[in-house]
Amino acid sequence: MRPERLNPLFAESTSLKGVGPGLKRPLEKLALTRVRDLAYHLPDRFVERRAVASLDEASVGEQVVVALTPREHRSDGSMRAPFRVLAEDDAGNICALTYFGRNAGWAKKQLPLGERRWIAGRLDQYGQMLQIVHPDHVAEEGGAALGTLREPVYPLSEGLTQGRIAALVQQALGQLPDMPEWIEPGLFARMGWPDWKAALLSAHHGEHPAARDRLAYDELLANSLALMLVRNANRARVGTPLAGDGGLRAKLQLPFALTGAQQRSIAEIAGDLAQSAPMLRLLQGDVGSGKTVVALESMLIAVEAGAQAALLAPTELLARQHHATLTRMAAGTGVTMALLTGRDKGRARESILMGLMDGSIQLCVGTHAIFQEAVAYRNLALVVIDEQHRFGVGQRLMLTQKGRRTPHCLAMTATPIPRTLTLAQYGEMDVSRLDELPPGRQPIDTRVVAAERIEDVVAALGRHLASGQQAYWVCPMVRENENADLAAAEARFAALQARFGADAVLVHGQLRPEAKDAAMERFVRGEAKLLVATTVIEVGVDVPNATLMVIEQADRFGLAQLHQLRGRVGRGAEKSTCLLLRSESLSETARERLALLRETQDGFRLAEEDLRLRGGGELLGTRQSGDTPFRIASLAQIAEMLPMAHDDARLLIERDGGLTGERGEAARLLLYLFERDYGVQLLRGG
Ligand code: ADP
Ligand code: MG
Repeated sequence: MRPERLNPLFAESTSLKGVGPGLKRPLEKLALTRVRDLAYHLPDRFVERRAVASLDEASVGEQVVVALTPREHRSDGSMRAPFRVLAEDDAGNICALTYFGRNAGWAKKQLPLGERRWIAGRLDQYGQMLQIVHPDHVAEEGGAALGTLREPVYPLSEGLTQGRIAALVQQALGQLPDMPEWIEPGLFARMGWPDWKAALLSAHHGEHPAARDRLAYDELLANSLALMLVRNANRARVGTPLAGDGGLRAKLQLPFALTGAQQRSIAEIAGDLAQSAPMLRLLQGDVGSGKTVVALESMLIAVEAGAQAALLAPTELLARQHHATLTRMAAGTGVTMALLTGRDKGRARESILMGLMDGSIQLCVGTHAIFQEAVAYRNLALVVIDEQHRFGVGQRLMLTQKGRRTPHCLAMTATPIPRTLTLAQYGEMDVSRLDELPPGRQPIDTRVVAAERIEDVVAALGRHLASGQQAYWVCPMVRENENADLAAAEARFAALQARFGADAVLVHGQLRPEAKDAAMERFVRGEAKLLVATTVIEVGVDVPNATLMVIEQADRFGLAQLHQLRGRVGRGAEKSTCLLLRSESLSETARERLALLRETQDGFRLAEEDLRLRGGGELLGTRQSGDTPFRIASLAQIAEMLPMAHDDARLLIERDGGLTGERGEAARLLLYLFERDYGVQLLRGG
């Protein structure tokens, strides 16, 4: 149970004053659903305003404070047109104060005609007219005071203003409880950090690097502690030692020899499986490095030892594909295998459930449906999770708690992440790396092409399809810009379909799953020649005959993501090509990213470089969360402080593994605060 002291922080944001139904969605969009989230909604930067005697002294784009006298209230009466107050400065310049939405009544009251007011805001230009959109402040006096104001600028979503969010953050900060210190006293003193509450307050009120560092450190420490508690709890559990006799593995008829990296990984896994402590291992290997066969060999060990194994895939499509591949590979072994997804219903499902319960099914492949309440196994001893990065630690734990004995767990990921982040993401696991590609892979010919040359690209695509090979066409899709991006992808598809007819299919995230799978399957079977897609093809899809990939607006994708996408081609014997279409104006970083991609196919190197490029451009407080498990800590802070947090966590757990001492109790609060409380649950469970 969450300590009572934290209750005010975990109250819903909607319990704050002034949060009506209208604010609910905008707050949800920013994941600010609880008071805690608002308190941790740190500003991106701060503005400082300049008080000017007249607008002649200010330039467009500048944050100013100026005295203006309203002369006219102008509205065309419609709800959608903005409401404008035309106001005059002391030198006779006219400026429009512009309000969107239902703010006219309020603005009229604040800005009565003929009465001088101090206005703070950003000076813009609208046609020939100067304007300030939604002034941050309107005050009857106090020009100089407003001018020296230093104010936080918060990340916003549609429907929120700086004023609104700042007021909510202030309310949230008013609810902060006092907290005991969880940071190691020596470190705390050495760093000169403020205590938790002071750190939060000052992070919102000024640029205090030490305050932000402390808050980031808290997050890193919570993460390290939780991962270590998971690791310890896992060591204390009892699993089933699995010693296969090699009988089934000997019957595998693989059309290739295993690479050294594959052999090494299988040996590491076999070593873990032979122990009674459950395995908790990550298999990290770039796209195409051959993780599937490692999974199969591992599962065969379990079956040889008389137990069951399950493979969990992140999507229906990948589950089907894995099932087909494994069935083909394991054909000579006589192992019984089933596919179970959420879409299986009725009799077919019943019979699979029976088979799992009585043990007649030895290997089960599926989506998370395979771990639902109703699914019981006779003796499940190994769980393989594909595309691990889609699951959080909490979910991982749930999966391995099926059955009286804890199954061994092998997690697989193709997302190459930098070493520093591996610790943060998978610190509770042992790691095997497939750092060697199967021999004979041809490098993918990667080229950067200016977007204006799209006609040439389409012509090349036409020749490619005519030769009997298949192709991908990828359009970007980002959450902030979802509707426009989807429209663009659909328009592109329409244009390509006009040319290639039924050879083209479209797949995007907003399609019904059945429609998506149907299109994908047509492509996988080779009936469709061209797959136009947003990023859903990122993971796992394996179509060796697809040897051309076009990526539109490649500069809008991250480096790691581009690399993953590109890994969909280059899977067969034919030479593959990847064309990166770039927009006209490219930032320096974007240019560097695309160049790197052209230069190397080494996912791990790209991951390190990506981190460097993104980390380098970082200003104070510009967060990136994306592919790290952190919301507060920036990449630079992770790189600098994660090793410290890791050591701190280890020492604490060595001294007080049950977290019962004074600092241990404080650390429990920290775990709840950052929602890593599964760590605490594990303590209770023993
Ligand atoms: P991953 O899941 O790691 O992206 P896969 O397991 O799908 O990679 O393997 C990619 C391709 O490489 C498959 O077609 C697979 O049959 C093949 N492959 C795997 N291991 C080897 C090997 N040792 N030699 C040659 N081909 C291999
Ligand atoms: Mg795979």
